Amino acid sequence: MKPAFIYSPKYRVDIGSHVFPIAKYDLVADRLIELGLASRSDLLDPPSPSREDLLAVHTLTYLEDLDELRWTERTCRSELPLTREIVDGFMLAAGGTILTCVEAMKRGAAVHIGGGLHHAFADHAEGFCYVNDVAVGIRGLQRTNAASHVLVVDCDLHQGNGTAHIFRHDPSVYTFSMHQENNYPLKEESDLDIGLADGTNDEEYLSRLNEVLPRLFDTHLPELVVYLAGADPYCGDQLGGLDLSIEGLRRRDELVLGESKVRGLPVAILLAGGYAWDTQDTVEIHINTCRTALDLFAAKPTVPGGESG
Ligand SMILES: [Zn+2]
Repeated sequence: MKPAFIYSPKYRVDIGSHVFPIAKYDLVADRLIELGLASRSDLLDPPSPSREDLLAVHTLTYLEDLDELRWTERTCRSELPLTREIVDGFMLAAGGTILTCVEAMKRGAAVHIGGGLHHAFADHAEGFCYVNDVAVGIRGLQRTNAASHVLVVDCDLHQGNGTAHIFRHDPSVYTFSMHQENNYPLKEESDLDIGLADGTNDEEYLSRLNEVLPRLFDTHLPELVVYLAGADPYCGDQLGGLDLSIEGLRRRDELVLGESKVRGLPVAILLAGGYAWDTQDTVEIHINTCRTALDLFAAKPTVPGGESG
């Protein structure tokens, strides 16, 4: 079975002139199709999350602020405007991450062309994140009983502070974050944090990751891996201070997805951040992630010359 791709054109909400390249979701989806990696019908439409899905992570007071678009102490740390379209777009992405987790369990891998909004806390917004889709996705999956133990491998440039805080007392979810230490946000304590020095390059990054990944997989024994494949550790990122190349990020994906594959572990992949000076670089990094997922997880033809799956 091929990995699923989850995507909605409704993710492209109007955030005005902003460093967040909101167009990247459409650009990645279009490019997947152009390259023949997916057809339009392969892109699954996310459902809106239910109130129960959201309440499994977020407080009622905060959700009511979002319902009413109220600028309060809970919403004011957002660095995005507070509009109906934006809130609904990010809510939909949380539904998309639930679907990504469910499809990953069925197919071995699923890629959300969206999500990874890991700075949102249970009771407040932060950064470019209103809804913590990572946590909503995991809680949504746990409620289906398809999996209980989950390993979060967060390789976005920024620490997954919201996710770390939400799951801080939950032994069923192990949070690992590898990020640039001297950068946003104020750090929370993940189960394991690796804070990297400014200017960390491909070799150093990959060697640090390679050192810890097998141990993480083997000690936590997850039933699902949720991988935040942020494109912002890239050397050409506007918000980042790490020095990874596009090839280095491709090798990072291979490492994380390869460790999942050899253990037969399903993996839900979220795009997370990416703010390259040239948006095409961000798109290329995300496309490489999709391609690596397809290379590793798509079923191979069983008969030589036969139809490929
Ligand atoms: Zn980031």
